[in-house]
Amino acid sequence: QQDAEYLVSLVRSVPGFPKEGIIFRDFMPVLADPKGLKILLKALEEALPVSPSEFDSIAGLESRGFLFGPAMAAHLGKGFIAVRKAGKLPPETIGESYDLEYGTASVEIETDAVQAGKRVLIVDDLIATGGTAKAATDLIEKAGGTVVGFSFVMRLDGLDGLDKLDGKPSSSLIAMP
Ligand code: 5GP
Repeated sequence: QQDAEYLVSLVRSVPGFPKEGIIFRDFMPVLADPKGLKILLKALEEALPVSPSEFDSIAGLESRGFLFGPAMAAHLGKGFIAVRKAGKLPPETIGESYDLEYGTASVEIETDAVQAGKRVLIVDDLIATGGTAKAATDLIEKAGGTVVGFSFVMRLDGLDGLDKLDGKPSSSLIAMP
């Protein structure tokens, strides 16, 4: 409980970023704080939505999923897969597009990043509408893997993002209004 409060106290809320009407939840101060970082990694592991024996790899979503996903993976003895935004990876890649408020975006992995049958846990700092996590799920499954669950640091309430996750289990450490 104390740990949870400590984490919440480190999250910085920035009104008007990246545009008016949005309150950006910034968890960089958690990473910068030695005690905060240790608590974060421990809490993510304790809150895992499935047992570590049920997945082979952790997939982190660009870019903040890259900041703690590899540390979690190393500690659990798993591999790490980077799910990148379009156009960053050398060929061959597979992609999946998804709708944004205005326009579309896509996520990509290298074609051999996910072997058939591989079980994957997806991690990211925050789930809002769930569109990014859903696209990453479809991408990993298109590549032959199975997404077994999701670990988020923060969840924005009121957007029903978790409903997009095909009923798969998820955990989030902090709920934000
Ligand atoms: P979604 O696809 O669920 O609507 O948005 C989630 C994605 O956008 C995540 O990759 C997350 O990093 C980013 N994102 C959206 N809003 C915020 C926010 O307030 N704070 C942070 N740190 N990331 C956000």
